[in-house]
Amino acid sequence: MPHDTTPLPAGSMIGIVGGGQLGRMLSLAASRLGMRIHIFCPDANSPAFEVTPHKTVAAYDNEVALAAFADAVDVITYEFENVPAATAEFLAARKPLRPDANALAISQDRLAEKSFLAGKNIPVAGYRTVETPADLEAAIAALGLPAILKTTRLGYDGKGQRVLRAPEDAAAAFAALEPKPLVLEAFVPFDKEISVVVARNASGKVRSFDAAENFHTNHILHTSTVPADIPPEIEKHAAMLAKVIVVALDYVGVLGVEFFVVLGDERPSLIVNEIAPRVHNSGHWTEAVCLTDQFEQHIRAVLSWPLGDPARMADVMMQNLIGDEIFIVPGGIDGNTQLHLYGKTEARPGRKMGHVNIIRRPL
Ligand code: AMP
Repeated sequence: MPHDTTPLPAGSMIGIVGGGQLGRMLSLAASRLGMRIHIFCPDANSPAFEVTPHKTVAAYDNEVALAAFADAVDVITYEFENVPAATAEFLAARKPLRPDANALAISQDRLAEKSFLAGKNIPVAGYRTVETPADLEAAIAALGLPAILKTTRLGYDGKGQRVLRAPEDAAAAFAALEPKPLVLEAFVPFDKEISVVVARNASGKVRSFDAAENFHTNHILHTSTVPADIPPEIEKHAAMLAKVIVVALDYVGVLGVEFFVVLGDERPSLIVNEIAPRVHNSGHWTEAVCLTDQFEQHIRAVLSWPLGDPARMADVMMQNLIGDEIFIVPGGIDGNTQLHLYGKTEARPGRKMGHVNIIRRPL
């Protein structure tokens, strides 16, 4: 079915499923465009609840609450990819869900994601489905070691995965990771990690932001630097692959694509690690230096508006503030730094509390 391309007017109510910092930043961007936001989240302490008066605190399987939420809004989006499939379908039957339930289903399951990408000739790491110890043995024989054993669902920030370096690592890793099936991925000897945040609207227009080069600490994104230090043809190729993905999904909204870059002896190459059907941590820099940032771009797409111009006006580095790092910030702010705190009251280790965008040089 073609998407409804009728733009929603100012004053429309956008429903967002999920109440984390991404929902909060989406809400702020939507408010700037004259929209109202209704957040649905089971956790009463959610950061997004602080920035809008319209909220539902209820479980994702509470159909009475979901129906009332759908009645109260004009269009629905989400800020995390682990929205249960049944919740997405329930909502989509009542109001437009953008991105749709299919994008969600593909990106919340590593196996579905890999087979979708491979089916579109997008390069992914070699992989095998693992349901039994015998499958794992066969997968190791096929892919070699080292390799990475991952859960297919609910993995994020390196959770739900084990590196296998020797055949003896297999049994413990298989026993530790739940639920089955798992996926064994060939180890990619990458030189860099980059990401592209891409947007597509209801009329099929596609715009992407410049690629960011990402550095992780303890499996959590630490910094995103733009421009990425990669050859221009690799940057162009990454944007092209991101476009192929959103077109193939008939996607509406912003999508993050994470790539491994293998520089190689002759020609550099790209491998897609994963896709996220939402605004992305590695796109937070856009708020400081782009004419339209990723949050506004997502809201524009969800509203069937024309996309904004993602042009970048300065070099920039985004740094996440994780756990206690939030406390060192106020003294460290200078004139070229944009601070964003998420309003979380408890600074647990590993928790994303905020970020800074450090503007390096106007173009
Ligand atoms: P993921 O949760 O799949 O995004 O993986 C988290 C991190 O683990 C990535 O950012 C990489 O640094 C590393 N990693 C994941 N998969 C692979 C792979 N197939 N080869 C090498 N490193 C990987």
